[in-house]
Amino acid sequence: MSLIVSKFGGSSVSDAASISRVADRIAGMRTQGHDVVVVVSAMGDTTDELIDLAEQVSAGGAAPQREMDILLTAGERISMALLAIAIHSRGVSAQAFTGQQAGVLTDSAYGNARILDVTPGRLTSCLESGSVAIVAGFQGVNEDAGDVTTLGRGGSDTTAVALAAALRADVCEIYTDVDGVFTADPRIVPTARRLARVTSEEMLEMAAHGAKILHLRSVEYARRHGVEMHVRSSFSMLEGTRVVTPTDEEEQLMEAPIISGVAHDRSQAKITAVGVPDVPGAAARLFETVAGAGANIDMIVQNVSVHETGRTDISFTLPATDTDAVRAAIEAVAEELGHTELIVNAGIGKLSLVGAGMRSHPGVSAKLFGALRDAGVNIEMISTSEIRISVVTSADDLDTAVRAVHTAFGLDAAEVEAVVYGGTGR
Ligand code: ADP
Ligand code: ASP
Ligand code: MG
Repeated sequence: MSLIVSKFGGSSVSDAASISRVADRIAGMRTQGHDVVVVVSAMGDTTDELIDLAEQVSAGGAAPQREMDILLTAGERISMALLAIAIHSRGVSAQAFTGQQAGVLTDSAYGNARILDVTPGRLTSCLESGSVAIVAGFQGVNEDAGDVTTLGRGGSDTTAVALAAALRADVCEIYTDVDGVFTADPRIVPTARRLARVTSEEMLEMAAHGAKILHLRSVEYARRHGVEMHVRSSFSMLEGTRVVTPTDEEEQLMEAPIISGVAHDRSQAKITAVGVPDVPGAAARLFETVAGAGANIDMIVQNVSVHETGRTDISFTLPATDTDAVRAAIEAVAEELGHTELIVNAGIGKLSLVGAGMRSHPGVSAKLFGALRDAGVNIEMISTSEIRISVVTSADDLDTAVRAVHTAFGLDAAEVEAVVYGGTGR
C-alpha cells in the first residue's frame, strides 16, 4: 500500500460540514490500507480575518512580524485539531501535530520563512502505530530562537511537498476547490479547460505570475526533490492534474502544447520616476534604493530620453504591498536621483501567457498583441522569458484581456464549464 501526503486547502475545511466530508474521505483512504499524512490550511478565510484583526488593533502601525506569525499559525492549529477529532469519531485513529512537532525547521524570516530541514520522526512513529497524522500547514519553527514561523501566503502546499519529500511518500495530493489546474483561473474564465498534466517548468511560470492554485515554492521544492504533485478537488472524485517533470529524452518525444495557460496577477503596482537624468549610474542608483527597501521588482521599462532635456522616464512593477516602503525610500534620496516626479499606479493587472511550445513557434507575441487590440485593451508594459510573455494592462481591463487571449489561442473548452466548488476567491 502507498504512503500518501494529502493537503486540504482553506475552502475544503471552511466549516463543520466540510471538515466532516474531508474526514470521510481520509477515513476511506485509511480503510483501503494506505498510510496517510494530512496537511491542513486554516478554515475558509481565517488567515485574512486574523490579518484584518491585527490591522484593527495596531492603529495604523506595522505589527511586529514575530507576533503576526504567532497569530497566523493559530488558524491552521484549529483546523488540524478539528479534523483529527472528526476522523477519530469515525473509528479511525488520528493525531494532530503543529509544524514544529512535525519537524518543519525554517530560517527566521518571519512571514516568509524558508524550510531548512524536515525531521519527521514523530510522524513516522504515528504512522507506525497505525494512526493518521494531521499536520498544521504553512508553519515551522526557527532553529535559532525556537519561535514559530510562517512560510508565506499559500504556504501549506509547500508544507505538504516538504513532508512528502522527507517521508519519501508515493504521491503528494493537493485537494482544493476546483478540479485541477486549468488553462486559466475558472473564476474568470468559465470556459477554461482542465489540464490532465502540466510540466513543472510551465507550472512554475504560472505560479510565479499569479496562478495561486499552487504556492510557487511548493512547485520548486517538488521539482528539486522529485515529488510527484497531484492537484484535484476535495468536492469531486475527478482525476485532477498531475504536475510532471519529464527527462530531456521524454521532453523531446513529447509534442509540447504551444500554450498551456493564461495566468493573471492583480497584486502588483507600477511606479514611474519621471524626468530621471539620462546619465550613467542613474538606473543603478534608483534600483539600489528599491532593493534597499526590500522590494522584488518584476518588469522595468526605460523610455527613450527627451533630446532637449536629457531626461527619461523609468517605470517598474513591484508587489503592491511594497509601494509605501519603496516610495518613502525613493523620496528620501530624491535630490540625489534628480527625477522631477514620482507616479504610483496601484490599478494595474498583469496577464501572462505560458507554454513550452513557444520556444519553437514564432508569431505568439503577434497573436497576443492582436487579440488585445481586438478586445480594445491597451498594453502598458511587456516582458518575456523563453516560455512566457507577460503584459501589464489597467486593472479594469484585466478580466476582458484574459478571456480574449484565452479564446484567441483556442483554449476554450467545447462543452463542460469549469466548476468552482467553494471559496470566496479572496
Ligand atoms: P486552497 O485554499 O485550496 O489552497 P487557493 O485559493 O489557494 O485554494 O487556490 C485555488 C484557486 O486558485 C481556485 O479557486 C482558482 O480560483 C485559482 N486559480 C488561479 N489560477 C488557476 C488555474 N490556472 N487553474 C485552477 N485554479 C486557478
Ligand atoms: N492559511 C494560509 C493562507 O491563507 C496558508 C494556506 O492556505 O496555504 O495563506
Ligand atoms: Mg492555496
